[in-house]
Amino acid sequence: MALTITDPRPEVGPGQLFVAGQWRPAGGGERLDVLDPATGRVVTTVAAATATDVHTAVAAARTAFPEWRDTPAKIRARVLRQVSDLIMARADEIAAVESLDVGKPISLCRAVDVPTAADTYEYYAALALTLEGAQRSVPFPAHAYTRREPLGVVGAITPFNFPLILSSTKIAPALAAGNAVVHKPAEDTPLSALLMAELLTEAGVPEGVVNVVTGLGTVAGEALLTHPGVDAVAFTGSTSVGRHAASVAGEHLKPVSMELGGNAAHIVFEDADMNQAVDAVIKAFVFNTGQFCMAGPRLLVARSRYEAFLEILSQAVPGIPVGDPFDETTVVGPMAAEKHLAKVEQYVRIAREEGGRVIAGGERLPGDGFFFQPTVIADLPAGSRVVREEIFGPVLTVQPFDTEDEAVMLANSTEYGLAAGLQTRDVARAHRVAARLDAGIVWVNDWAMLDPALPFGGVKHSGFGRENGPEALEAYTRTKSVLISLA
Ligand code: NAD
Repeated sequence: MALTITDPRPEVGPGQLFVAGQWRPAGGGERLDVLDPATGRVVTTVAAATATDVHTAVAAARTAFPEWRDTPAKIRARVLRQVSDLIMARADEIAAVESLDVGKPISLCRAVDVPTAADTYEYYAALALTLEGAQRSVPFPAHAYTRREPLGVVGAITPFNFPLILSSTKIAPALAAGNAVVHKPAEDTPLSALLMAELLTEAGVPEGVVNVVTGLGTVAGEALLTHPGVDAVAFTGSTSVGRHAASVAGEHLKPVSMELGGNAAHIVFEDADMNQAVDAVIKAFVFNTGQFCMAGPRLLVARSRYEAFLEILSQAVPGIPVGDPFDETTVVGPMAAEKHLAKVEQYVRIAREEGGRVIAGGERLPGDGFFFQPTVIADLPAGSRVVREEIFGPVLTVQPFDTEDEAVMLANSTEYGLAAGLQTRDVARAHRVAARLDAGIVWVNDWAMLDPALPFGGVKHSGFGRENGPEALEAYTRTKSVLISLA
C-alpha cells in the first residue's frame, strides 16, 4: 500500500543566484527542478549557474576578500555568533525546508541538522579569536615570527545528503579565518544554501563575502575547480567525482580538501552488551535513510552471536517507522532522489543474485515517493560488490568473524576509510581495535556521535583533509614567516 502523505509542506519560492549581496537570475536563463522526495513532485526551481555566473561570483568574492581579511577577528566572531543565533531563531522554518528538500524526517532536522549548523557557527566564532602566529628563535640577529593568513577565495562544493551541516562545516571556518567563499550546493538539494545566504547577510556578512551559485556540478562545480581566481577548493561528495575534482584542481595547482565516500564496518564482539549493540547497529545503517557518508552498512558479528543477532534484526528492523518526513513519528524518510533509489534497488538485486539471504525489507514502497524499506542481507559471498561498494541507502550486510584479527582484516578490506565502530565491554580491546581500524573516526558502543570540536575525514579513497575542530580552521589558512633584521 502506498504511503499516505498528508501533512502540509512549506511553500518555497523560486531560487536565484546570490552574488555580491544581490539575488540574480542565471545568465543562461536555465533552471533546475527541485523535487519533494516524498511525493516525487516539483516544489520549486532554482537558477542553473553558467561558467560566466561563477566568474561573476568569484570576482565579487575577490573584491570583498581584502576587507573581510582585515576585519578584526573579534568582529568576524561577532558576525558568526549572530549567524548561529539567527539559525536557532528560524529553526522551524529551516528544518521544514531541509526536510522538504532532502526528505529527511522533520524530527531529525530539528534535533540534528539545524542545531549542528548553529553550533558550528558558534564554535568557529570562538575559534576565530585563537588564530595566531608564533615567535621563533633564529641563530642570527632577527626578530622572526609566523603569521596565519587566510587563503583568499574558497570554492565550497557540497553534496546532497546533509546540505545545511556540510555547508556550515566549510563556510564557518573559512569565514572565521578571513576568507571569502563561493558555495556550490548539490543540484538536488540547494534550498537551505539559499536560506543561509539570507541569514548570513542579516547577520552582517558583507556583500560578496559569501556567494551561492546553484547549478550543475559539471558546469558550476567544474568552473570553480578551474577558475584562476579561486585559491582553494573544499569538496565533499562521492569518491568518483572527488577523484576527477582532485585531478582538475591539481592541474591548476589549487589546494583541495576531499571529503569522499565511505563504507564503514561495525564490529560486534561476543562480549558486547547486545541491547546496546542492536540500537547502535540500527542507528548506524538507517540514520538519514542510510545516506550518511559515515553510516555503518557493513556489520561484522562474532560467530557465536551471529544467528541470534540476525534473529533480533529480523524482528526489529521491519518495525522501524518509514514514512512521510513531516510526520513526527517517522524515523526513515525517502531517498533524496529517484536515481539514489534506483542504485539501492540495483544493489539488492545483485545481492539476491549472489545468494544473499534478505532477512528484512528488500523492496521499494509503492507510490510516487522514493521510499525503500530498511533492509538486512546476510550470507553474501566474500568479496561481494554489495559488501565492498558504497550503497548509500538503508541497507545492512552482515558477515560473521572468528577472531579479533579477522574482524579487523574484514573491516579494513574496502577501499574506503572514513568511519568505523565496535561494540565491546572490554576496554583494552576497544583501544586496541580502534587503533588498528583504517578510519578518520571510530565509535565505541554507539554511533554517529559528532561535534564541531571533533575533526572527521577520510583515509584511503575516503579522501584527505579534516572538517571540524581547530584542524579545519587551520586548513583555511596558510603560514607566512616574517624576519626583521636587528643588525
Ligand atoms: P557527488 O559527488 O555526486 O556530488 C557532490 C558535489 O559535487 C555536488 O555539489 C555536485 O554538483 C558536484 N559535482 C559533480 N560533478 C562535478 C564536477 N565535474 N566538478 C565539480 N563539482 C562537481 O556526491 P553526492 O551524490 O551529492 O553525495 C554523496 C556522496 O558524498 C557519497 O559518496 C558520500 O559518502 C559523500 N559524502 C562524504 C562526506 C564526507 O564528509 N566524507 C559527507 C557527505 C557525503
